[in-house]
Amino acid sequence: MLMFNNLIDGEWISDGARSPNVNPSDTNDVVGQVVRGTRAQADAAVAAAKMAFPAWSRATPQVRYDILKKASDEILARKDELGRLLSREEGKTLPEGIGEVARAGQIFAFFAGECLRMAGEKLASVRPGVDIEITREGIGVVGLITPWNFPIAIPAWKIAPALAYGNTVVIKPADLVPGSTWALVDILHRSGLPKGVLNLVIGRGSEVGAALLEHPDVAAISFTGSVATGHKVAAACVASRPMKKFQLEMGGKNPLVVLDDADLKVAVECAANSAFFSTGQRCTAASRLIVTKGIHDKFVAALAERISGLKIDDAVKAGTDIGPVVDQSQLDQDLRYLAIGKEEGAKLAFGGERLKRDAPGFYLQPALFTEVTNTMRIAREEIFGPVASVIRVNDYAEALAVANDTEFGLSAGICTTSLKYASDFKRNAEAGMVMVNLPIAGVDYHVPFGGRKGSSFGPREQGKYAAEFYTTVKTAYTMP
Ligand code: NAD
Repeated sequence: MLMFNNLIDGEWISDGARSPNVNPSDTNDVVGQVVRGTRAQADAAVAAAKMAFPAWSRATPQVRYDILKKASDEILARKDELGRLLSREEGKTLPEGIGEVARAGQIFAFFAGECLRMAGEKLASVRPGVDIEITREGIGVVGLITPWNFPIAIPAWKIAPALAYGNTVVIKPADLVPGSTWALVDILHRSGLPKGVLNLVIGRGSEVGAALLEHPDVAAISFTGSVATGHKVAAACVASRPMKKFQLEMGGKNPLVVLDDADLKVAVECAANSAFFSTGQRCTAASRLIVTKGIHDKFVAALAERISGLKIDDAVKAGTDIGPVVDQSQLDQDLRYLAIGKEEGAKLAFGGERLKRDAPGFYLQPALFTEVTNTMRIAREEIFGPVASVIRVNDYAEALAVANDTEFGLSAGICTTSLKYASDFKRNAEAGMVMVNLPIAGVDYHVPFGGRKGSSFGPREQGKYAAEFYTTVKTAYTMP
């Protein structure tokens, strides 16, 4: 039985109450025993990170590169085994789990390189004889708070830049799915990180998360999760003395526009992938399919046929296309929204049935609503499950207006063969990421990730843009 313990100041701590980490594909299968960290442990982790900061922030780029590269190599070498752990605890399919682990490995390789590429600027002053140097430095102790739906990729895309740019870290993963983060921290620890540089405290958001938000020695918080928690994080960071720098990645209600001139096959594939793969539990999932009237009926029929052929089963079984919902409470939320959609007058064109499989698990058939208007709750609120709504529109102009009529702005996509509409959509979609003829949920690891409006706050994550958050700028003036 795996024991998901906390790492504080270079020591694995097994003290504390435990709860089982249950496989959502088979609730009889316990993936591991999860320790429940305390406020005192969070405080000890911050103290350790504070002690470790001066030496780590001055470590040479070579020292940091070697550790991050070594971790990347091990993650990639173990991607099948770690992918299985991830799929067992989170419920995404094995290929998706392995793919996510590979992404974590690639992220560490990228940021290993960033250790060597950190640059400053040297400028002439407006005053005679004065030199100006602009450099970037690590901020200090960074608190990382992560959600359950990407249990290794999101911790990786926060930990890797934090360490590369010289910060020390306390990470609190989602207590629902902590095993993958635990495995990642174990790899980094054994790759040679000095004690205290990276600390793991698994536990409740209201206890361990809150302790990080309130601790005066935590200089910055990077958070990914729901809008409701994100707002609490922001309020706590502003209230703290000194104020903390913070970055929030939150929910989405992402539109995929399908125009009359779209390649139907491409549009159906983009919609099926974006709305339903990973059980629809992606912040970038397409939950609003905005379709012009000329292609609407053909598109709905073809999409319903495509999803009727998807195999919903145990996440690690060969051939499974969609795994279970992550737990009972998320399943209840999905079923609640299915009922709300029907009450609002939307037509359930396909799916939405609770499914039984060999083992007891949280299986839900993907659901497709039609006759949806953009004012309905199912079109405005994040459901975070395999539920998508088709909204019929007259033309491109209406499609764009509906796509942007949302409080969110994470990702947006369009399927069209028209350069004119593709170009216009890239320019006018109010989203941080825009995809043309591609699934809107898939992104690269070396370029900025993030949204606008109610989806995100603060600098982008990933790629070299991550330096905006994980460093602070110093301007030095010298009269030689
Ligand atoms: P959540 O907000 O419930 O939890 C996120 C994290 O915050 C967890 O670690 C949780 O323990 C912690 N937390 C909860 N209450 C806290 C508090 N009071 N103080 C400090 N920490 C606290 O979100 P979730 O259910 O784990 O994840 C699903 C959400 O995450 C969805 O809304 C999804 O859209 C969002 N998400 C966004 C992105 C993105 O990049 N935009 C990526 C993945 C997931």
